[in-house]
Amino acid sequence: ALTAGIVGLPNVGKSTLFNAITQAGAESANYPFCTIDPNVGIVEVPDYRLGKLTELVKPKKTVPTAFEFTDIAGIVKGASKGEGLGNQFLSHIRQVDAICHVVRCFQDENITHVSGTVDPISDIETINLELILADLETVTKRIGRVEKLAKQKDKEAAIEYDILAKLQHAFESEKPARVVEFSDEQLKIVKGLHLLTSKPILYVANVGEDELLDADNNENVKKVREFAANEEAEVIVISAKVESEIAELEGEEKVEFLEELGIPESGLDQLIKATYSLLGLATYFTAGEQEVRAWTFKKGIKAPQAAGIIHSDFERGFIRAETVSYDDLVDAGTMGAAREKGKVRLEGKDYLVQDGDVIHFRFNV
Ligand code: GDP
Repeated sequence: ALTAGIVGLPNVGKSTLFNAITQAGAESANYPFCTIDPNVGIVEVPDYRLGKLTELVKPKKTVPTAFEFTDIAGIVKGASKGEGLGNQFLSHIRQVDAICHVVRCFQDENITHVSGTVDPISDIETINLELILADLETVTKRIGRVEKLAKQKDKEAAIEYDILAKLQHAFESEKPARVVEFSDEQLKIVKGLHLLTSKPILYVANVGEDELLDADNNENVKKVREFAANEEAEVIVISAKVESEIAELEGEEKVEFLEELGIPESGLDQLIKATYSLLGLATYFTAGEQEVRAWTFKKGIKAPQAAGIIHSDFERGFIRAETVSYDDLVDAGTMGAAREKGKVRLEGKDYLVQDGDVIHFRFNV
């Protein structure tokens, strides 16, 4: 399963946020595919469509979909001494599919900042630089070998050499791989290098609990937004402390607390949704009398693979997918009405599953 890693300097609020994630956490029993590991928190994906489908279909049970956040500790020692990061930290980042970089924007004299003052950009750059240096090493190791082959008129090597040289140049100017422009063909080769700085990233600006409502005027948040815009990265503003309080509440209580705070949605819910999309994930639904359920798939997969997410038998014996889009189903009001309007399609094995599809798989056993 795809996972997003939470990184950040010490004392920025990572643990507080990660605790909120595990507090709010999903029952792992519902999600057997998920890892049981103290550094992994399973979150349910908030999705208003699931509530609407439940109203329409009135099933016995409704099950949201879920995915995982991984808490990546370990930057502490190396970074605070100005040394490189431990190999362990880097290898943990290597294993995640996207990065949520928590940045301290809250002021609190009682909580030491590792470099003395709250300076979000310098914090971001401290971590990013370590990742860039690790990537520089990866590329430098490879480039010598590839250059030799390229000189021997090896065409593929020549193509790769150009890519490596471009990356090396970027890393030497302290730029991450994600801002370097490549063609789609080249990107495939870049992907094969498994670089740390080509992983998708979003920044989490952790503001003080009293700054949440006026976060747009917060100087530190503004700086983070500016920095992120250069990388075309998203910024989510949260107060980790408030999130840990929200995470203890459920249902009506949670709604009331959010109203009191004056925010429509918890920061954690925003973070979950943004990370889900950062990972390239999307949701399809199954809607039967027994159960209405959301399923996570990686964008770009075809119907049989999507069926395989439910059960491998569904993929092996796939015949077709009876599909209606969420919007069409809600417009029609019932599955029967959608069928009468011709909105229910019979899709075959080459169908690219879309976010919001409501699917009934037909298969041979
Ligand atoms: P980590 O080292 O990045 O995991 O940071 P922690 O989550 O342990 O937080 C460090 C300290 O900052 C703790 O004492 C937290 O209570 C405090 N902290 C975290 N978020 C906030 C916040 O939004 N406001 C304030 N005032 N303190 C916070």
